[in-house]
Amino acid sequence: MSTPWQKDGYEAVIGLEIHVQLNTASKMFCSCPNQFGDEPNTNVCFVCLAHPGALPVANAEAVRQSARVGLALGCRIPDVSEFSRKQYFYPDSPKAYQISQYDQPLCAEGLFRVPGADGFEVRITRAHLEEDAAKMIHAGGDSGRISGSAGSIVDFNRVGTPLLEIVTEPDIRSPEDARRFLTLLRATVVAIGASECDMEKGSLRADANVSIRPIGSTEYGTKTELKNMNSFRFLERGVEAELERQLGLLQAGEKIEQETLHFDPASGTLSSLRSKEQAHDYRYFPEPDLLPVTQDQASLAALAAELPELPVARFERLTEAGIVEATALVLATDTELAAYFDDLAARTGDIKVASNWVMGELQAHLNADNLSAAASPVTPARLAELIALIVDGTINQTAAKEVFAALVEDPQATASGVVEERDLAQVGGDDALGEIIDAVLAAHPDEVEAFKGGREQVIGFLVGQCMKQSGGRADAKALQGLLRARLSA
Ligand code: ADP
Ligand code: ZN
Ligand code: MG
Repeated sequence: MSTPWQKDGYEAVIGLEIHVQLNTASKMFCSCPNQFGDEPNTNVCFVCLAHPGALPVANAEAVRQSARVGLALGCRIPDVSEFSRKQYFYPDSPKAYQISQYDQPLCAEGLFRVPGADGFEVRITRAHLEEDAAKMIHAGGDSGRISGSAGSIVDFNRVGTPLLEIVTEPDIRSPEDARRFLTLLRATVVAIGASECDMEKGSLRADANVSIRPIGSTEYGTKTELKNMNSFRFLERGVEAELERQLGLLQAGEKIEQETLHFDPASGTLSSLRSKEQAHDYRYFPEPDLLPVTQDQASLAALAAELPELPVARFERLTEAGIVEATALVLATDTELAAYFDDLAARTGDIKVASNWVMGELQAHLNADNLSAAASPVTPARLAELIALIVDGTINQTAAKEVFAALVEDPQATASGVVEERDLAQVGGDDALGEIIDAVLAAHPDEVEAFKGGREQVIGFLVGQCMKQSGGRADAKALQGLLRARLSA
């Protein structure tokens, strides 16, 4: 089951429209570099600037990558799809229309499953290929928005960037589920390699369509659309704020107006961008300058077979192997960390121990040093050697942490080398432990009395003292056993 948003007899209904910029080498309909961050208006040509007579040619790699994403979302890829013109006038579109797809999209009717104990399914209506608009920069104000700015400038580097628009059915039932769905969808596209999906750089953008209805109703209420939520947190917060606003209106006996809204994360407020009366009629018609895209189902089957392991499948593989869901989700959405984990688990032969180390010491070190798993000096091979020393009883957990830190510090060091150099091997023999225990018991007669008088918990203190005496190297389990035996003798 999902985790639905329900309040005062109403439930949430949410559908997402997600734009993914594909990371092809060139733009969608011309050979300009498809690159972020270059000097403005340098990656442009006659085609993407819409000079008269310039003709578009569809980017085959963009079509292929879109099909791969569609297959990963369980979509049907029809034999024929078609480009259409979506007409509108705005300075970010030099042609005064956008080449998009309309009634014959590249990908149709998919299904995406968010796995887990509180998982749910979202139907994918379609995924269609289009070109991005130019980037408008509203200068001279403080908000970066058009209102309050002194003027706008246009960077055409972005115009013509291949854009895959993924549209879901209104199957999502809470702001949290919207975030969870988008997180896994993003991870899926990233795993495929079709896009970096960096929300900050705008290569992943999501619009949320939101309505509420009485619980149990099968009809949908009037929806509003929240534009361009540019982080997972803002998406969740924006939808939450909009659900509350709609609930307030209905409870006050008012109607929801169909409109497009902007969510301001700083103030948490929603403002209207345009209402239904101002809605565009795009007058779509088939693009006469481009041939329809044809697909061959045998090639698509091969494309599907070559997809890498996807986050949802990885999540299920790991949870079935006994990894807890929270850990499995982290590994499912981070392909590099998962590759590290799989390598480590294969070397140690114990996925639980491997997952404890990856989620604990390794993650802490990666975060502290701002490294990706593949870039860590502590390779799976080096960490596996360390883990082997714990498993065979050479060192205890305390020493293991010190060894790990040493492996981070010195890329040449080996776990066994560090243990030897720093004399970290565990004190485990009965004789050696016995000596330590004798000394500690002699030094703490009051605690020994207390234990014998029934205050069992002082054993924790005595174990701690023994551990200290051993310089942190005592075999904790053996120590506990011996100490108990000695005290009750
Ligand atoms: P429009 O004609 O406004 O573009 P669509 O029917 O094409 O609307 O749907 C656009 C998006 O809005 C889809 O993601 C869809 O799931 C979502 N949606 C449609 N109706 C509702 C509704 N009543 N509540 C929430 N989302 C909705
Ligand atoms: Zn160009
Ligand atoms: Mg629509």
